[in-house]
Amino acid sequence: MRGTMLYGPGDVRFETRPDPTIAKPADAIISISAACVCGSDLWPYRGIQTVTEPTPMGHEYCGIVEEVGRAVTSIKPGQFVIGSFFASDNSCPHCRIGYQTSCQHVEFVGGAQAPLLRVPLADGTLVATPETPPDELIPSLLSTSDVLGTGWFAADAANVKPGSTVVVVGDGAVGLLGVLSAKHMGAERIIAMSRHESRQKLAREFGATDVVTERGDEGVARIKELTSGIGADAVLECVGTQESMMQAIRSTRPGGFVSYVGVPHGVALKGEELFFTHVRLHGGPAPVRRYLPELIDQVWSGKINPGKVFDLTLPLDQVAEGYRAMDERRVIKTLLRP
Ligand SMILES: [Zn+2]
Repeated sequence: MRGTMLYGPGDVRFETRPDPTIAKPADAIISISAACVCGSDLWPYRGIQTVTEPTPMGHEYCGIVEEVGRAVTSIKPGQFVIGSFFASDNSCPHCRIGYQTSCQHVEFVGGAQAPLLRVPLADGTLVATPETPPDELIPSLLSTSDVLGTGWFAADAANVKPGSTVVVVGDGAVGLLGVLSAKHMGAERIIAMSRHESRQKLAREFGATDVVTERGDEGVARIKELTSGIGADAVLECVGTQESMMQAIRSTRPGGFVSYVGVPHGVALKGEELFFTHVRLHGGPAPVRRYLPELIDQVWSGKINPGKVFDLTLPLDQVAEGYRAMDERRVIKTLLRP
């Protein structure tokens, strides 16, 4: 087969790779129906995270099960399945309380920007849809694999409740789906922080009631102004920089919650400031597996349409252009079809 490899900053290649095979008895091989480029793929693409050797790319996926190892019992060839970017057994003590991305047997799933993918711990990791989905549902189903699951976790970890005032820092696909998730959880007011017109529009479509274009201290001042000087009940930090993290913490009311789902790059927090904010922090790699059955159900029944974050669809062999378009912020998120 041919698959996507990252050689170094800006150097994405679609090249001949060995077909994945069952390496362990709990593995499954799936044929990819759709994959996509993640905001976190841009960190190594931009050279902010070092690439030491050519790396297979892609960790968001859905597709048809081709083959399973002898230890796999619940997942069957022919099923349409979705999984998370971390494989998990879904049975250890961490999985049982809903932190599958901290599974005792966690394994990263990589190489999904390809026609075939090996998924470890198939029974614990993969969730099958009720039947083979119609084509128009594929983008939304794909989004549950990471970007929606992460936005959903962001809203959940920030304790969004009916009536909450919510701020979303970051207008990437995760931030936009954080807006959708907060709306779904009953937030009354959702303030999206965004400077890009097309993203603001989608944020409003997903449920944002206000848009703030200022950043940093000015952004914080604007949030305080909009909340009568109090700050938000829940702030979703969906970027991962020092500026976005401080903006999130300082926009939150005492006793409020900040969730952080953007992979932190160079973020350092001062203990004294944190101490006096009375803010609760909860974040990390989203335990998408916890939410997958519910999210698939929501998409399947047409209650949500998160696939709208994909504003560019390309054949897999044009994956390099998919990265470029996202890097230059010409598009929100690239969907790839084999
Ligand atoms: Zn586990």
